[in-house]
Amino acid sequence: MTTSTPGWRRELADALSRPDQLRALAPHRPAKEIAAAAARFPARIPRPYAALIDPADPADPIAAMVVPDGRELRAAPELSADPLAEERDSPLPGLVHRYPDRVLLLVTGRCATHCRYCMRRRVVGRPARGRGAAWLEEVVAYLAARPAVREVILSGGDPLLLSDERLGRVLRAVRSVPHVEIVRVDTRAPVALPSRVTADLVRALRRHAPLWVVLHACHPRELTPDVVAACDRLADAGIPLLNQAVLLAGVNDRPGVLEELSRALLRARVRPYYLHQCDLVDGAGHFRTPLARGVGLVRDLCGRIAGMGIPRLVVDTPGGHGKVALAPGSGSPGDDGAWTLAAPDGTVVPYPDVGGGS
Ligand SMILES: *Cc1c(COP(=O)(O)O)cnc(C)c1O
Ligand code: SF4
Repeated sequence: MTTSTPGWRRELADALSRPDQLRALAPHRPAKEIAAAAARFPARIPRPYAALIDPADPADPIAAMVVPDGRELRAAPELSADPLAEERDSPLPGLVHRYPDRVLLLVTGRCATHCRYCMRRRVVGRPARGRGAAWLEEVVAYLAARPAVREVILSGGDPLLLSDERLGRVLRAVRSVPHVEIVRVDTRAPVALPSRVTADLVRALRRHAPLWVVLHACHPRELTPDVVAACDRLADAGIPLLNQAVLLAGVNDRPGVLEELSRALLRARVRPYYLHQCDLVDGAGHFRTPLARGVGLVRDLCGRIAGMGIPRLVVDTPGGHGKVALAPGSGSPGDDGAWTLAAPDGTVVPYPDVGGGS
């Protein structure tokens, strides 16, 4: 028997990336601008994902996320290559340690599709050198010496673009450290390349429970039957699923879109976790939304959908000071110290508080 190339590998090899292929997805955009933006940050769009795009719609939200755009070439003083100062907080290459109890491992630079708003464009789409056995040994030594670390988050790039064998090696290495309680895998593959979620992969992940998978979907149209089936395979194996979305101008910055996204995720047994304010990264200025819009959108969601469908709006602070949650103003103490709560039906409800608060 010959070992055949897995289907997902063939889909990746066959992904759209040439300027003429990209232009066909966004014929209203100047060919020169598409080519220039793609030269700066390479494009890659698996064909089934590209099929979600309506080329006749100049405002197509899926195209906005993945087809290169001339506006990516606009520089601005507030934008930079590494807005969250991840390199500063990397004691080893590809290991970001900012919060005491959890460590981020950037295990690869590869992704199924290259999101035009990516905060890690500085590493994505480029081969991540030096992530072999020697690196893994250093990572294990680092973790072993830090008992405060309870969680390891595999990210990248997309950890699920590693082969099952390489992913297995990383997971076993991380799991060899006794105080690592949980593993998290941040991945866009189940959404952008659902064929990657094979039975073998699911088994490999399941073996390392408790392991959480955090997906990355930003628009309800991404939750296709194939994507939902990939989520089902993971959920049926008992793997808890969360989603992080990025708030993107022209993609999902309208109340109906976020509501539909949350409903589609919940139907697929995925809990919306974070809604990220778009980071101040080079090339993504045209995706930015005012902070107040995000707060308003989440407030609006609170009145429309169950609590488990409401993501937390977070801003990762420029300069690498960590994430800050922006909650819609929902309650406050008045001048006399008595609290009122802003209810979803618009009523301001006085709350009979109990003594002893600080
Ligand atoms: C976002 C992030 C995490 C994970 O944060 P959670 O709030 O636990 O999702 C961990 N490390 C770094 C460096 C991060 O940027
Ligand atoms: S999947 Fe994540 S890391 Fe990869 S290009 Fe998109 S945003 Fe960047």
